Amino acid sequence: MSEMDSSRVSRQDADGREHTVRVQHTGARRVIRCDTCGWHKPAQFLPWLKAEEHLAEAHQATVDPTLASGDGA
Ligand SMILES: [Zn+2]
Repeated sequence: MSEMDSSRVSRQDADGREHTVRVQHTGARRVIRCDTCGWHKPAQFLPWLKAEEHLAEAHQATVDPTLASGDGA
């Protein structure tokens, strides 16, 4: 069974670069992994929240690209 693409979190940093953390399922566990730096950790609960925290703290990426359209900056 393939999943929809909802199992990832993308954020843009101040330079407009996009960083993505993917939520991976390994058996009964969830692991979140950052495409940018390779950071990963188990995240049994609220993996998306932990992904957002990593993106903000490690990459200063806090802009949701799906919400950023139309902002003239
Ligand atoms: Zn990272």
